[in-house]
This record gives sequence, structure tokens and C-alpha cells, in this order.
Amino acid sequence: MTNQTTKKQWPPEDLEYFRKLILKKREETLKQIKRLEAATVSDSSRQDNSAVDSPYSFHMADVGTDAQEREKSYFLLSRENKFLTHLNAALERIQTGEYGVCIECGELIPKERLEEVPHTQHCVKCKNKAKK
Ligand SMILES: [Zn+2]
Repeated sequence: MTNQTTKKQWPPEDLEYFRKLILKKREETLKQIKRLEAATVSDSSRQDNSAVDSPYSFHMADVGTDAQEREKSYFLLSRENKFLTHLNAALERIQTGEYGVCIECGELIPKERLEEVPHTQHCVKCKNKAKK
């Protein structure tokens, strides 16, 4: 990179704003993870009971068997854990001042987008370009 001196960066007060935003999100995510972990634990202890009744008779109904619920909890849990990793990485980028800058074009990512997806590293333009 030759334009090191003109490298874009959010001012410290904005970084502080984003940091608080991410910390709040992280707290919510940690709570969600705890809840989901509790759900997967209690579900697996009930597994023996539900195995007696044939789950196939309920196949067409959308009541959701224990197994389905547990699977859903695991899915959500892994998703939340992944999100948590992203949030932690974003916090690290705030420390280094790299936060909120598109890694593709080097432009500042609009505030509205960062508020919506605080861990993003792409502006909307580059994100859409990557999809194609
Ligand atoms: Zn971009």
C-alpha cells in the first residue's frame, strides 16, 4: 500500500461508540448462549422418555419433537458462538483502529451498516460484489 498516510479511519469518539455497541451485543449473545446451552442439556436428559413413543406418527405435524428442538438449539448455539467470535475480532480491530473500514476498497463503512452488522468488514457495495 502506498497511501498509508491517507488511510481512512474512524475518529476515536466513533470507535468508542461502536465499542459500546459491540459490548452490548456481546452481552446479549453470551446470555443467549447460556440459555441455549441450558436448553440442549435439559433436552438430552429427556431423550430416553421420548424415544419410547414413535416419533414418526408426528412426522407431518409441526409440533416439533425433542430431537428437532435439540437440533435447533445446537444450530442456534453454534451460530451464536460464531457471532461471538466475530464480535471479539471486531473489538480487537477497534483497539488497533482498523475497525469499520472496508477491507476491499478501504472506505469507511457507513454507520447505519455498522449498527446493523457491527462485525462486518465489507461495505454494502463490496459485499454485493463478492456475492456474484
Ligand atoms: Zn468496500
